[in-house]
Amino acid sequence: MGDHREQIVDISTPPADAESRIAAVREWLLAAGWAAPFDGSDWLYPDEPALRENLGLLPRWLGFGGSTFVIARGSHWVAGDGTDVPVCPSCGEPSGTWEQIEQWDDQGVEPLERCTNCGHEVLLGDWNLEGSVAVGALAIVLDPQSLPGLGGVFDPADVARALRAELTAALGGRWAYVHHHL
Ligand SMILES: [Zn+2]
Repeated sequence: MGDHREQIVDISTPPADAESRIAAVREWLLAAGWAAPFDGSDWLYPDEPALRENLGLLPRWLGFGGSTFVIARGSHWVAGDGTDVPVCPSCGEPSGTWEQIEQWDDQGVEPLERCTNCGHEVLLGDWNLEGSVAVGALAIVLDPQSLPGLGGVFDPADVARALRAELTAALGGRWAYVHHHL
């Protein structure tokens, strides 16, 4: 139905620690100026408290306004419509495999994956998963909205990548970004 979410997935926090991690992420989103308290919700996560985009973000990405953030529990986070294999972070080839995604998701073991095209070898969570799948106990789910009349002037992926980088710098751990197309 043409709806989208940007999912910033925590791939290093074990499920047993998810609740405290969610609280820490929420505090950071507020303190770092990304989000403000909000009494609404995201219809995809009606039982989760949502945060509203902080107005201080308006100058960073022209047109980005009125978005919500939910920090949700889960197990795997998919691209949805058109989900594909991971893309090599070195050469850009979609040379990941479904078998290794299944190993990560079903057995909870993140595989070391070697690119069949260029030989680059890193953990699967460090591949480009933007159009694929990431396994993690929680994620920030951003519903990117545009200010009236300014739809399409910013790229939500730019916002998501910036959020991922700032989260990693501030809170540590490993985060993956998966774009979700409903
Ligand atoms: Zn490669």
